[in-house]
Amino acid sequence: DVEEARQQYARPLEIIEGPLMDGMKIVGDLFGAGKMFLPQVVKSARAMKRAVAYLLPFMEAEKELARKAAAANGVAEGLQTLGHDQKKILMATVKGDVHDIGKNIVGVVLACNNYDVIDLGVMVPAAKILQAAIDQKVDIIGLSGLITPSLDEMVFVAREMERHGFKIPLLIGGATTSPQHTAVKIAHEYSGPVVHVHDASRAVDVVSSLLGGRLAEFDRANREAQETTRQKYAGRKEKPLLTIQQARANKFNYDWNEHVIATPWFLGRRYLDDVPLADISKFIDWTFFFTAWELKGRFPAILDHPQQGPAARELYENARALLKRIIDGKLLTARGVYGFWPANSVGDDIVVYKDDSRREELARLPMLRQQEVIADGRPNRSLADFIAPKESLVPDYIGMFAVTAGLGADDLAKAFEREHDDYNSIMVKALADRLAEAFAEYLHAQARRDWGYGAEEKLTAEDIVAEKYRGIRPAYGYPACPDHSEKFKLFDVLDARKVGINLTESGAMTPAASVSGLYFSHPEAKYFNVGRVNRDQLEDYARRKKEALEVTERWLSSQLAYEPVEFGVKC
Ligand code: SAH
Repeated sequence: DVEEARQQYARPLEIIEGPLMDGMKIVGDLFGAGKMFLPQVVKSARAMKRAVAYLLPFMEAEKELARKAAAANGVAEGLQTLGHDQKKILMATVKGDVHDIGKNIVGVVLACNNYDVIDLGVMVPAAKILQAAIDQKVDIIGLSGLITPSLDEMVFVAREMERHGFKIPLLIGGATTSPQHTAVKIAHEYSGPVVHVHDASRAVDVVSSLLGGRLAEFDRANREAQETTRQKYAGRKEKPLLTIQQARANKFNYDWNEHVIATPWFLGRRYLDDVPLADISKFIDWTFFFTAWELKGRFPAILDHPQQGPAARELYENARALLKRIIDGKLLTARGVYGFWPANSVGDDIVVYKDDSRREELARLPMLRQQEVIADGRPNRSLADFIAPKESLVPDYIGMFAVTAGLGADDLAKAFEREHDDYNSIMVKALADRLAEAFAEYLHAQARRDWGYGAEEKLTAEDIVAEKYRGIRPAYGYPACPDHSEKFKLFDVLDARKVGINLTESGAMTPAASVSGLYFSHPEAKYFNVGRVNRDQLEDYARRKKEALEVTERWLSSQLAYEPVEFGVKC
């Protein structure tokens, strides 16, 4: 089609600024009106990018563009030479975090609305973000993050922007971010506009408000809304907290004399190298795949959804095709490690022993306990309660695991990007994430068999994805064990780096498509939310971790029921 157009138009530039831009505008409008969905937008952006890539050589050949074109050696630069008044948006995932998919989607959506998006990638330190913003004279900075420690890092970036006299808007997005956190913790650090962007569908609207004639009005409304949020926060009525002693007195009690302990048939760790992706893929939970593409609804019902159905079906077909390519061509590698160790609880600690003699400690896993007053006689839970206490003399066990399906994902995604194919680049990352979660499910089933109690398990893949089995595998950073820093210990015990998984300074796993956690076999083990913790518990927990209170407070800042003395101060 582009070649046909080229025969009809006088200059390639006219095709870009004419029909191509017109097309993207329609896509943008339909998306804004909820009549088109994100996968379709990203696909349209791919058509646009490829069309521009096709036209670029012709433009370069044009005499009047020769000078500019000489400097241009790629699509992005080529697009830039067109951009008379293209506004620049800098995007980055903050230091210590590897969140990528959401940021990239927002980037594509903004780019196809004719913004010049400068993506600094993941794990970007504040200094680099600020320097790039100055060097490239950007109009907006957008920060992204997935894990809780990134919230503090965003506060730090805001403070640095203020210190360096920035005035441009700051956008905040990503899974753990919220309008509340943005209003209460970030906005007052920076005098320029600070806006929380819920998802990609909101990004264009927010950016065009900030960069268009509506800035003053939008900024005022945003500041007012944030002031209201802050007041609500300050005047909030929260559930009362028990002292940690009271909470412990209401622990989950269990008759350990009656308990039939499950004994794993091996102890220590085992490595899995290159597990067949076809075996793993049976356990993919597709619902979350659609969530990554901002299509909300359960799989498979979403395929027949009255509005989203066609987009969901097309996305699913394309995903299955790429998944088949990945499996057949072994384009991703799945590696993991898991193991079992003798363990008993001592107070709220889980003590992990070197061997069955239970004389030498290998590690101590301090756990937090719910401190909120809990209604109707339910216990104040801690994961430590699911492991037999030392004094019970019951020889209990704990399991640990770390898996990745992301080895090779970055290279594959980059190969697609070189073909101007953001659609498949994002798809690779989303599929790698799904495979990692599916691998965790696959390995958990293996672990239950190794543990004995799962040997007779008769569950379908659907039952397993719905977690209808005995036991749980809580993951650090999640509500029952929100302390990401404990992952460093987990990784030491598992020697998980040997399988190719590493941790950033914030405890994010790389490759991003990795999952790790603990295995509990207790029949009544369930997930719960630790919720807010008070200073008495935090002091006790920091002591158990042999760590300075300020350090523990920083790791658990989203958990604290009190204002720590030096909140947010960062060295
Ligand atoms: N099938 C889903 C599974 C991931 S979400 C997927 O493909 O994405 C469920 C996992 O999150 C659990 O297996 C557990 O590892 C973790 N999780 C959920 N709730 C938790 C909690 N309250 N505390 C700790 N970990 C939790």
